[in-house]
Amino acid sequence: MFNAIRTYPAPESLAEARAYDGDDVYTALRNIFFDKCYICETNDPHDINVEHFFAHEGSADLKYNWNNLYFACSRCNNIKSNAFNEIIDCCDSAQDAFRSVKLLPPMSPRGKRVIITATNDHPRTIKTTELLTKVFNSDHTVNKKISSEFLRARVFKQYNLLLDQIDSYFDPIATPDDKERSIERMKILIQRSMPYSAFIRWCILEDDVLAPLLAEYMD
Ligand SMILES: [Zn+2]
Repeated sequence: MFNAIRTYPAPESLAEARAYDGDDVYTALRNIFFDKCYICETNDPHDINVEHFFAHEGSADLKYNWNNLYFACSRCNNIKSNAFNEIIDCCDSAQDAFRSVKLLPPMSPRGKRVIITATNDHPRTIKTTELLTKVFNSDHTVNKKISSEFLRARVFKQYNLLLDQIDSYFDPIATPDDKERSIERMKILIQRSMPYSAFIRWCILEDDVLAPLLAEYMD
């Protein structure tokens, strides 16, 4: 996951308390979350929902509250439903959405799972880990099994972009310029706005040479 900065004031349409998913809400959320699902980090998702962080369950206050609205793909919204209210709030700068849950990519495009590990024992971290496990490794229904395979393949594809740069950096005949270019490209891949940034960042943190060079760019 990644941290995001919510902008204010709230979109005007929410004041009318008739719809929580007006065009202005979509546009504002899209900008805040870099056009990515805040749960799975898929960018430019085909089917996007305005997601209620705390399930509103009829409460008008929760339903139209700007601070309760998030940008999620319909698959993550469906998995989260009202079962995962107490997860890490990526819009709270006091909560480190990226470092709280370690994510490592699948071993191959058809790898059966990604590795998901809580890095602290706070209940919301544990709950987030459970949610992400369902999102990325789910096989509890045929539909979810197929869609999680598809999702893991996308993560692997992004991981491959990183591997290309790592390979270039450690090439025995790489020049200082070659290395510099690889580092600059890795800096792009670890940006919060990039798809699956948490996976990419954790791969770099696992590398003793690259971590000291790039950790400071993981905001
Ligand atoms: Zn998603």
